[in-house]
Amino acid sequence: SIVYLDGAYMPMEEAKISPMDRGFLFGDGIYEVVPSYDGKMVGFGPHIDRMIEGMGFIDIKLDWSHDQWKDVCDQLIEKNGGGNLGIYLHVSRGADSKRFHAYPDNVAPTVFAFAFEIPPATVADKTKIKGYKVNTQQDLRWDRCNIKSTALLGNVMHFQVGHAAGMNETLLFNANDELTEASACNAYIVKDGVVATPPLDHQCLPGITRKILLSILAKDGSIKVEERIVTKEEVLNADEVWITSSSKEIAPVIEVDGKPVGNGEVGDVWLAAQTLYSAQKYDY
Ligand code: PLP
Repeated sequence: SIVYLDGAYMPMEEAKISPMDRGFLFGDGIYEVVPSYDGKMVGFGPHIDRMIEGMGFIDIKLDWSHDQWKDVCDQLIEKNGGGNLGIYLHVSRGADSKRFHAYPDNVAPTVFAFAFEIPPATVADKTKIKGYKVNTQQDLRWDRCNIKSTALLGNVMHFQVGHAAGMNETLLFNANDELTEASACNAYIVKDGVVATPPLDHQCLPGITRKILLSILAKDGSIKVEERIVTKEEVLNADEVWITSSSKEIAPVIEVDGKPVGNGEVGDVWLAAQTLYSAQKYDY
């Protein structure tokens, strides 16, 4: 594939960074994944806003405009043949001459981007979707999960525990047994037709799929949504459980810790929500 690295496009095999890059040594960087289908991106503006905010959180100075990012995304989509592509954008603090924890002065950030194939856009059809199986774990990550940091070891370790047990994802709960999110997705329950999802704070990533979905549902008004604490007990007794991310859209979960969610089938509220999402996702 063709990738972007520090101002140039090149085949992936030719892209080289310094081993002294702080992204490599410390996971000191911010990233994004923007989904695109047939050349059309979903949530480009909000994705770039979140990346700029993330760079602000960790004092990485790179003043690219949305148009500059848009150009890189468009070129990667074109050079990689379109279709269903996730555009991965990555800004690390850059390569210093020494390994020292403090932020260095006068080091230029490294900007890397590539395109990778993602599943086709989710079809709002119960017969065409396979429900997800998840397990549960105590969330052992740090207290700044709102930052989309490239330092993903916590998420990777949680995902791996689920993966090794044959799960598609894993739901995370804080020490009070309150749902935070999944290892690479935001999480939701549905009970008696009402959707509930944890509020945005330091315990979860402010997902762009979540943001778009909640605005669509608020505008439509037919499905009630609550942003509030969701307990583990509520998850285990929910009618439906969903997880969302840029590459999965709204994914229905049909099994938690080996037990069926509701009747063990993909739910009607999922169908209504994914139908609205599919129709309106490009408006954001
Ligand atoms: N939570 C975590 C930990 C993630 O890594 C992601 C990204 O995939 C999400 C939530 C969902 O965010 P988005 O909808 O912006 O892809």
